[in-house]
Amino acid sequence: MEISRPQLSDLVLNIFFPEHCPGCGSVVDRGSCMCGECEKELEYLEDLPWQTFFPDNISGRPVSFDCGSALFYYRGTAGAAVKSFKFKRCLSFADYCAERMALKLENDISDRIDLVTSVPMNMINRRHRGYDQAELFASKLAERLGIEYDPSLLGHRFRYIAQHRRSGESRTKAADSTYFIRKDAKRLDGRNILICDDIFTTGSTVDACARLLKQLGAAKVFAAAICLRE
Ligand SMILES: [Zn+2]
Repeated sequence: MEISRPQLSDLVLNIFFPEHCPGCGSVVDRGSCMCGECEKELEYLEDLPWQTFFPDNISGRPVSFDCGSALFYYRGTAGAAVKSFKFKRCLSFADYCAERMALKLENDISDRIDLVTSVPMNMINRRHRGYDQAELFASKLAERLGIEYDPSLLGHRFRYIAQHRRSGESRTKAADSTYFIRKDAKRLDGRNILICDDIFTTGSTVDACARLLKQLGAAKVFAAAICLRE
């Protein structure tokens, strides 16, 4: 049997650098990202108005984002997949989610999107991990949507207590003081911005970032997350 060059190169890559399903860890065919069994188990959010899932106020303050969208509930296979994406370098999950989110946004957001950005990670964590999962997801999504991606608008100050270890009002206050507008950030006057994150929990993080984007002049800010934690 004659094996064509692309097939041969895939075979070699699969031997030395096998791709693993982010849901269960089994080896998958190159380019397919997730195994069939895990795909069947992913729990997508229902097609309902965004207010069904996202808060319209946080700690008594109206939120600054104008619409929210997420693909999956943060549990089961989707929860495991996001953890593999964050901590085990299952990077192909970024494009897998971007492809699905690009389709979902057609349904969830009727306004024009002018620019895509992401919730920034602090430089210490980024250096340690070697990549920023929100940035990867956002850049792949921007590519799919054919819209400019700009990661240079906001910054993240290092905090000794991670945001996911806080709760309630402390989380809101911490988020407000954690994120900042970068000195070299360009103005966003009248533009609609889509900000991406990996997991939407209380909304404090996205809300703090949306508030800053509006200070830069954004007309509307939409939030897109891979998972929604209930
Ligand atoms: Zn799997």
